[in-house]
Amino acid sequence: MRKVVVGAVLAGVALAVVGFARWTVVGRETQFVVGGALVDAGYGLQDGLESYDFANTHDITPEQVWEEIQKQNRLSSGMRSAFPRSTHHPLVALVVCMDARIDTNELVGDTRRYYYVIRTAGSVMSEREHEMLELAVTNGVKVVVLTTHSDCAAERAAATPELRSQFPALAQAVDDREAAVEGFLSRPKIADAIAKGHLLVKRVAISTLTDRLADPDSQ
Ligand SMILES: [Zn+2]
Repeated sequence: MRKVVVGAVLAGVALAVVGFARWTVVGRETQFVVGGALVDAGYGLQDGLESYDFANTHDITPEQVWEEIQKQNRLSSGMRSAFPRSTHHPLVALVVCMDARIDTNELVGDTRRYYYVIRTAGSVMSEREHEMLELAVTNGVKVVVLTTHSDCAAERAAATPELRSQFPALAQAVDDREAAVEGFLSRPKIADAIAKGHLLVKRVAISTLTDRLADPDSQ
């Protein structure tokens, strides 16, 4: 009899915890923050591992790198097959430089799939990106975030004469970045969505070392 009572109490507590996490705003927020802390713990475990294949610190060949990528993919995709993730209709589109130090999940503190991400050298958009963003807006994106970041290699190439001559197309693209932003904002469907309050286009500068977002004019 006593065991039955204890079991019933434990089941009640478990149900209350699950109910709190699933069916209350505070519970969902708590679940989100705890999930983020666990993701961060995972980052911490992997972050200090210097050797790409955990064996060879130096002189690793391209073939060894590719082998390691495939090995990790088998493990990762196996986990995904076993534990499928849900999909969300993206509400946000991020345009971000390809710099490896920037992790877009960290930028937004969110691993859910609410984000389209366009990554280009120097965060420069071409007409292809304009069209892709317009398609995203047509499909329900409400906020487009155009970013730049500190210590950008593309900006540095554009600002250094000898690198400009080595990478002329990249330098020109960085020169044309502002014009490309204006071109995007003046597209009729984008301008109309902004005017009607259906879309926000924000411009931010990312601090590369901390992920903090700031007004680009305050940098
Ligand atoms: Zn960059």
